[in-house]
Amino acid sequence: MVLLRFAPSPTGALHLGGLRTALYNHLYAKKHGGKWILRIEDTDPTRYVTGAVDGIRAALEWSGLEYDYGPGRDGPHGPYYQSERLDLYRTYAHKLLESDHAYRCFCSPDKLASTRERLARTGSNATYDKECLHLTEEEVARRIRAGESSIVRFNDDRLPEREVATDLVFGALRDAHASLPTDPVLLKSDLFPTYHLASIVDDHEMGITHVLRGEEWLPSLPLHLDLYASLSLKPPQFAHLPILLNPDGTKMSKRKGNVSVLDFTRRGWESEALLNWLALAGWGAQHDPNKKPAPFGDSQAPDSTAVMTLPELVHHFDLSALTHRRNILDPAKLEYLNKHHLMRSWKDDEATAHHARRIRELVKSEFPSRYLDFYQYATPDYIAKVIRVLQGRIINVFDVPSLTPFFFVDPDYSSPDAKSMIRSVPSDDYCELYICRSSTIRFVDQDFTDDDISLVATVIHDVCKVTGLKQKTFMTALRHALSAMKTGPSIPEIISVLGPERTIARLKNAIS
Ligand code: GLU
Repeated sequence: MVLLRFAPSPTGALHLGGLRTALYNHLYAKKHGGKWILRIEDTDPTRYVTGAVDGIRAALEWSGLEYDYGPGRDGPHGPYYQSERLDLYRTYAHKLLESDHAYRCFCSPDKLASTRERLARTGSNATYDKECLHLTEEEVARRIRAGESSIVRFNDDRLPEREVATDLVFGALRDAHASLPTDPVLLKSDLFPTYHLASIVDDHEMGITHVLRGEEWLPSLPLHLDLYASLSLKPPQFAHLPILLNPDGTKMSKRKGNVSVLDFTRRGWESEALLNWLALAGWGAQHDPNKKPAPFGDSQAPDSTAVMTLPELVHHFDLSALTHRRNILDPAKLEYLNKHHLMRSWKDDEATAHHARRIRELVKSEFPSRYLDFYQYATPDYIAKVIRVLQGRIINVFDVPSLTPFFFVDPDYSSPDAKSMIRSVPSDDYCELYICRSSTIRFVDQDFTDDDISLVATVIHDVCKVTGLKQKTFMTALRHALSAMKTGPSIPEIISVLGPERTIARLKNAIS
């Protein structure tokens, strides 16, 4: 069985890049009938941010990515915090010391800094001169007894023959060792492990079969493989996920502004759209916003515009289709996917009711005073009606109040839009005429149906016929009275949401 892990460091909020890594671990594990672990890599107390683990867990929960084992979900591989596994790393460091694959280094930080400078001046790529590699056993023992502080370094000379490191996404890595520091540190003087030691020990001890992580860790792969070889352990398979870019080509992580997952939640994006967006980064060609969503069958590979739920992503996931090309995360594509995920959800009454409750909560928190009136009648059923007429126009549910404010508050007849509309209507008597006919639409009650919408359209047509008013003029007058906005849903749709009483009240109001 495959076993994977998502191993964030609790140094802040979970960002899009981290969520993409968690998602790909989830997709690979589930696609192959396996499981994944959430492992907290908290071995650097100087970078620890209080509350970060809760934030990471909350972001994963919101996104629907459920880890099988980890904090709060015990299993056979725990503990899941690296800070609770320190003895294990020390044991492995000792094994490496005993087999000469590692050695103690007593150089002070100042001495190391001046050594680095000296080596750089001579044009060397080395970052350490290996002075302590040549200490005798007696010398090492004496300095330990004397209480001198030391670190444990990997002994790079001990493994002269190496296989070419291979990554499932990036392929064979040639000359990969060149970028590594000289004899990298494994255990620090405070006896905490570095990332490298802790990572390889845990991946082995937990039985991880596949490591899927960000491209920024690719340069560490040769060292990790060397460490496994030095310990005579079989390494897991590695796949590094290409860096995500902003549309301007800069690295996602460097973007000013918010790329934390919980910011996307706060801004109303659907979790499935966000996952879909991240999954498709690197999945086929670039997005064409003019292209209709691609229907695809089971046998067909989805293209870069495919609207997929999490189970569908699992079904279609194929690691071998990934390229190592860097991927742009285009916000226009998120809008596109969000809109289509919402359109799917409108077909489901329960999902629509859920969105209606979200919109109501949003209105409550975002516009407490402006929407006070709205509270008196805005039941989730009412908002569901609004949703029904807006449907394909909704890109983000949080746009609903600003898209059609007239459904929530009285129209603003003083707006420039409203004024220009009224100038194009020659007379006021349209309303009276409309009110005369209003008895015809009295039946328009809470259970207004699509048939009723066409009946309202017939009434409007009749009014024009009887009065000789141009349909366009009459429609503008009605739109002005009901919404004070130049664009929006059709007049019958607006009436179907407002209901007869509020419709007539607005008609009266508009001419008073
Ligand atoms: N703790 C590392 C990070 O937060 C994870 C690296 C890995 O997955 O091996 O990026």
